[in-house]
Amino acid sequence: MLSEDKDTKTYTSIGSDLLSQVGVSIPQLRAAINGRVIAPGDPEYDEARTVFSGEFDRRPAIIIRAADATDVSYVISLARQSGLELAVRIGGHSSAGHSVSEGGIVLDLRDMRALHIDTDRRTAWTETGLTAGEYTNAAAAYGLATGFGDTGSVGIGGLTLGGGVGYLVRKYGLTIDDLLAADIVTADGQVLRVNAESHPDLFWAIRGGGGNFGVATRFQFRLHEVGTVLGGLLILPATPDVIAGFIAEAEAAPEELSTIANVMPAPPMPFLPPEQHGKLVVFAMLVYAGDIEAGEGAVAPFRALATPLADMVKPMPYPQIYPPDDSSYHPTAVARNMFVNNIDREAAETIIEYLQASDAVVRVAQLRVLGGAMSRVPADATAFAHRQARIMVNLAAFYNGPEDKVLRNAWVTDFAAALHQGDSSVYVNFLGDEGERRVRDAYSGPTWKRLAEIKARYDPTNLFRLNQNIPPANGTPEQ
Ligand SMILES: Cc1cc2nc3c(=O)[nH]c(=O)nc-3n(C[C@H](O)[C@H](O)[C@H](O)COP(=O)(O)OP(=O)(O)OC[C@H]3O[C@@H](n4cnc5c(N)ncnc54)[C@H](O)[C@@H]3O)c2cc1C
Repeated sequence: MLSEDKDTKTYTSIGSDLLSQVGVSIPQLRAAINGRVIAPGDPEYDEARTVFSGEFDRRPAIIIRAADATDVSYVISLARQSGLELAVRIGGHSSAGHSVSEGGIVLDLRDMRALHIDTDRRTAWTETGLTAGEYTNAAAAYGLATGFGDTGSVGIGGLTLGGGVGYLVRKYGLTIDDLLAADIVTADGQVLRVNAESHPDLFWAIRGGGGNFGVATRFQFRLHEVGTVLGGLLILPATPDVIAGFIAEAEAAPEELSTIANVMPAPPMPFLPPEQHGKLVVFAMLVYAGDIEAGEGAVAPFRALATPLADMVKPMPYPQIYPPDDSSYHPTAVARNMFVNNIDREAAETIIEYLQASDAVVRVAQLRVLGGAMSRVPADATAFAHRQARIMVNLAAFYNGPEDKVLRNAWVTDFAAALHQGDSSVYVNFLGDEGERRVRDAYSGPTWKRLAEIKARYDPTNLFRLNQNIPPANGTPEQ
């Protein structure tokens, strides 16, 4: 249950005052909006302001669950006129807390759910309020898929606009590599259709530049034939040889195979022998999107790295890669994202050393071998510039309270420094609230410059600023 304290209550009422100063009362807002308006005190307010991370207990002045692009445009002008901070929210998974505002406006797109699949053309037009799991399930009914990330409850909005790295990354590239067009409501309230021909600058920028340029209300995606895949969980004991061997095999594997290896203490899962609980394991998810027999051949070297502690890799309908969501799960965690060139035996030893030295309840080094289709797109074709990155690393530890956070943060910072291989860049979607320097690290120099210029064209006052912010080149920040 979220708590309510005096200071945030005051701030919330300042927000309501600002709304009334621009001549809008809550009843008027309700009459103007086709969707739903949720105000402090409404029964659904606490649920509606809750985001995935347990760290953010913020109280917006108003939450608007938009029904359509007209609502979105209205809310954008309301934010402009009131000067209230605007948060845009779908899945609510931003680890920087960008999907909920303290005392501002939350524009929640979760009720915008229309999805039309064109099986002949293998494309889909979807409103952006769906989660990755919802879209994936709907497309699977036709044996089709667009690749998203590793978690079904993540919204397609935030994930796509930042890039999108998932189980089809080596075979079909990033999510943005399948984005064909989008409808974007810009800071001036216009709805723009953007694609390779229409507003190509904006189309380039939204493929990696996040929510900086407007609110995406619809996406058009390419779909691929992905029916039954060979996939699932493989758990191996985590020794330096197994970790380094796993990465070497993942790099050598055919592009049909994408892997996510979590080196972590074994959770107390019923199918693992009790003596393994808490011991370091490679908890890996594998997806081979192709012929099942060929997949068995591709997975065999991983199974041969050590006697598996659990092997659940089997033919399965693609959506089963997303385990059921638990909406009551709100962890607090510190994390660091980075790219490295290799995980050899020495790096694997470092990983084991750091994980063994910590007693955080959950601690993990997640390793994702990239390459394949993702790497064949030129670095300047989209705003996601890390096309040549070989391995993405996510380090994370759960914490419990502010003191513990300091401790876990020091651990994750040291751990990242120990694994650093000269590349300071970061994937924008895995950034927390880590400051301006780190946002710049998410983009190469030329990409940053071009993004700032496009930002100045479409959002010169930086109305869309509650995000991994790219300030407009020569723009005036909005107060
Ligand atoms: C458990 C977990 C697993 C994850 N796994 C992956 C993964 O495998 N691969 C991967 O690539 N990423 C992954 N991510 C990162 C994820 O892609 C980002 O956190 C993403 O921003 C979440 O999108 P959302 O819609 O759920 O988030 P929200 O918090 O609702 O939105 C985040 C931000 O995105 C912007 N935004 C969202 N929708 C729109 C829109 N329609 N128009 C304009 N701006 C918008 C806004 O700035 C918003 O503040 C994961 C995150 C978590 C917490």
